[in-house]
Amino acid sequence: MVNGFNPNSLRQALEIRAANDVIPYAGGTDLMIGEQHPGSYLFLHAVPELKRVYLEDGILHLGAGCTFTELLEHPLTPALLKEALSQIAAPAIRNEGTIGGNIGNGSAKADSALIFFVADASLKLESSTGTRILPIRDFYIGRKQLALHPDELITEVLLPLRWLDGYVYQKVAARKALAISRISFVGLLTLDNGVIAHCATAFGAVSDVVIRRPEIDSMLIGKSVEQVKAIRSDYLAAYDKAIVPTRGRVSSEYRKAVCLNLLLDFLNHYEI
Ligand SMILES: Cc1cc2nc3c(=O)[nH]c(=O)nc-3n(C[C@H](O)[C@H](O)[C@H](O)COP(=O)(O)OP(=O)(O)OC[C@H]3O[C@@H](n4cnc5c(N)ncnc54)[C@H](O)[C@@H]3O)c2cc1C
Repeated sequence: MVNGFNPNSLRQALEIRAANDVIPYAGGTDLMIGEQHPGSYLFLHAVPELKRVYLEDGILHLGAGCTFTELLEHPLTPALLKEALSQIAAPAIRNEGTIGGNIGNGSAKADSALIFFVADASLKLESSTGTRILPIRDFYIGRKQLALHPDELITEVLLPLRWLDGYVYQKVAARKALAISRISFVGLLTLDNGVIAHCATAFGAVSDVVIRRPEIDSMLIGKSVEQVKAIRSDYLAAYDKAIVPTRGRVSSEYRKAVCLNLLLDFLNHYEI
């Protein structure tokens, strides 16, 4: 028997969260695995505000309670996010699993979080006393450690839609389907008249937190393809230093080598 609260508005959910020691429960696809948690759950499936998807000033607001299937079927969801979501697990998990749960789980293997990192998305965090907006990079502070206050919920992902059209996404896993990422990579690149207008990369499942290093990617921005060819080895060397894999099921040497190969494939894809 699972105990819990069943709010039907965000306000009610936040009041319950403030007054009780509860665990937010969205789809339960992470929570129901492994040991049973002590205490009560705060069930979020009937909170309509967490299901909203809307566009405002070029930012796509995605309700944290949206399931992967709902976003796969939504006309505003960008192709890159759809590609990543379509490779998560199988339909049964995609029908229940939510983006809020994917982020709230705190794992660097979370496939939707990788896309939110590369796009420099922010999170809307709400409590009964206020709202704050935090870049996703500042939300993950270590292995399974999140900058979420005990009275807060993740209520939205704020996804800037700029620069998402040109991308390379790769999920490396033990199987083609129903498999957790062993390494995941996404690279965004926009060329404008032969000049790199934007470049961003992110590596998942390698370290405690998704690796996103804008200061390295900025080496390429504003340069022509020819100029980038000249500094390509410096760029790769900078990532060689920045990628420090943690020990996992597969060796850190393997993961480092795969990351660098994926980065190389990304550059080759754009012939730079
Ligand atoms: C068979 C299987 C295959 C899987 N394959 C993949 C895969 O390929 N890729 C992948 O990324 N994941 C995968 N997962 C993991 C899981 O499905 C996802 O992480 C999913 O997004 C979790 O969402 P949920 O709504 O079920 O979260 P829940 O289990 O409900 O919650 C997960 C965590 O997030 C917290 N939480 C939930 N909502 C909020 C909120 N609004 N605010 C604050 N905290 C919140 C919960 O308290 C909990 O700590 C798989 C799981 C299974 C069982």
